[in-house]
Amino acid sequence: MNKAKQNRKTKKTGSGAEPVAEKLTTLNKGSLAKIYQKISEKNQTLHDDEPVLATTWAIGQQHSSDRDFYEELCYHMFAAGFSRQVVRDKWPAHRAAFADFDPGKVAMLGDELIDTLVTDKALIRNRRKLTAVITNARKLLLLINEHGSVHNWLRSYPEAEFYLLHRQLADTFDCVGRSAAEWFMLSTGLPYHFETNDARRLLDRLGLLPKGRKDESYNRVMQTLQTASGVSTWEISIDLWRFASGFRMQESICAEAPHCPKCPLWDECDYFNQEN
Ligand code: SF4
Repeated sequence: MNKAKQNRKTKKTGSGAEPVAEKLTTLNKGSLAKIYQKISEKNQTLHDDEPVLATTWAIGQQHSSDRDFYEELCYHMFAAGFSRQVVRDKWPAHRAAFADFDPGKVAMLGDELIDTLVTDKALIRNRRKLTAVITNARKLLLLINEHGSVHNWLRSYPEAEFYLLHRQLADTFDCVGRSAAEWFMLSTGLPYHFETNDARRLLDRLGLLPKGRKDESYNRVMQTLQTASGVSTWEISIDLWRFASGFRMQESICAEAPHCPKCPLWDECDYFNQEN
């Protein structure tokens, strides 16, 4: 009997039905590292695009001033839900329209400027986002006044609480959602992870996603995988993303009724062993 059938038999007898919230804590480091290794190795056989494209950042991962942080934040705000290549191509026009992203100068701009900017075809003509460039400059200045610099504010969060910073970014700034906040953190060199629906579904099907607040539970899985594998959460999130989206697109796996013909995670997958 192969291992998948053995697992299905175990499921029917009920002895293998581990509560989802406990599986992450009951698996030992070696088992978790093995799961990650299988994902990583499978990715070596995929031929999807590199996830970190040249269009990913406004500046790169070198931010030396409040101005750089502010520009990066604005870039990811515009890029969310939009073609990064288009944002990249239009970015010089945004620099010109917004005083080279000097937050002190932008905060002084009048809101009536937006009426002019929304007619400028060189820009991304989204009134809410254009307005947010100005309001976010004002909000950022308040943080700079309180902490001395953006760098100081970001580094006031311990690494284990980056998920709180992630939440704070989305709560504080206009038009900055979870995705823009993630990319901003990654672009500023904070060793955070990014999260996709495909990766969440993969972890859920493996039974590794504890119940609870969405961001806290995902953060917990990433921290645990990091401890087990010794790989940064940033690299883990790339591997999860590539495996869960790239592999799925090529092989039609992890679907509603998975056939999973080539998935290396049969033995570890709660979903597969329950549904087959
Ligand atoms: S066994 Fe199937 S459902 Fe489970 S992770 Fe692999 S592809 Fe997804």
